[in-house]
Amino acid sequence: MEDEKKSLRATGGCLCAKIRFEIYQPLRQISICHCKQCRQSAGYLAGFTVCDPENLVFLQDEGLKWYESSEHAKRGFCDNCGSSIFWTEIKGGNMGIAAGSLDEPTGLTSGIHIFTEFAGDYYEIKDGLPQRKADRHADDLLSSS
Ligand SMILES: [Zn+2]
Ligand SMILES: [Zn+2]
Repeated sequence: MEDEKKSLRATGGCLCAKIRFEIYQPLRQISICHCKQCRQSAGYLAGFTVCDPENLVFLQDEGLKWYESSEHAKRGFCDNCGSSIFWTEIKGGNMGIAAGSLDEPTGLTSGIHIFTEFAGDYYEIKDGLPQRKADRHADDLLSSS
């Protein structure tokens, strides 16, 4: 199992490739976040998987900038092309990785909708996935692949 956990499981980056990274662990299903900050930052909805920062290796981080979007969280983006890529708590912990930044095939599935009480008024959630009104940490409902 140790070997499997440390093998290369995903690669990704921003539109202009001034951010490129590799992830060396199985990735969790995608959480689709409906909070206003995610929607405003991502442009519609935001979908994130997560990894341990120790298993995230940058091949290129020239474009990476961080924006503190609240007292608790910061968002990593490319200062050249504007891609929104990372989300993490300022105190540390798991790194949220935007699903759209991953190279395909990702092998991932969407697992849950979170912060649905803040959903935009321009769509309805009809895919049958579980929903949580305001719980960012829904790991108990998600599996890794
Ligand atoms: Zn870029
Ligand atoms: Zn959000």
